[in-house]
Amino acid sequence: MREIDRLVAGFKAFRREHFEENRDNFRDLAEKGQAPKILIIACSDSRVDPAIITQAAPGDLFVVRNVANLVPPCEGEDSGHYHGTSAALDFAVRDLSVRHIIVIGHARCGGIEALITTPVGAAPKGFIGNWVSIASAARDKVLQEMPTASLAEKTDACEKEGIKSSLANLMTFPWVAEKVTAGELMLHGWYFDLNAGTLLALDPKNDAFHPIETLFPDAEID
Ligand SMILES: [Zn+2]
Repeated sequence: MREIDRLVAGFKAFRREHFEENRDNFRDLAEKGQAPKILIIACSDSRVDPAIITQAAPGDLFVVRNVANLVPPCEGEDSGHYHGTSAALDFAVRDLSVRHIIVIGHARCGGIEALITTPVGAAPKGFIGNWVSIASAARDKVLQEMPTASLAEKTDACEKEGIKSSLANLMTFPWVAEKVTAGELMLHGWYFDLNAGTLLALDPKNDAFHPIETLFPDAEID
């Protein structure tokens, strides 16, 4: 139970150092409800917690985490399947009216590695294989463009292509596309390299990832 003790001790520290110190803020959040401006779609991977890597506060981020930070294409609302990510997206965009959606991919992604190591043309297997097959076009592109690269290089490229594919799938939801076209919603693709400790952002001008500081040079905590 040592793992659980560690969490309970962490909660006690949170209560002492964050909750008690910010009681008014928590009371406001409880009474007025949440009004986050940002939806984050991140991987379930234990090493890439979006709130930790961005130092966000309670109430700042509406977060969906799934295997390989994927957004499925828009399918029928009554198709008889369970669409957890689409439901969260619907709530964030139509009810909360977030202004930004950030898809955060990351290095050493096990979900993307499962995708890249599935032979082209092979039927996806199990919950994971079926889920990551959402990005199979990204995988096919990488395999076609860099056939002689190492598995690590292919996985790295596919992690980034997967982000682009999720951004494209976001636009298949009509209420996302409408708000983006109206300038009410912005889509972002980020990539966290947990080995180098760097955060890259997709520059729509050249469709390439660059250190995020170069795209947002004025960002400072106020
Ligand atoms: Zn991952």
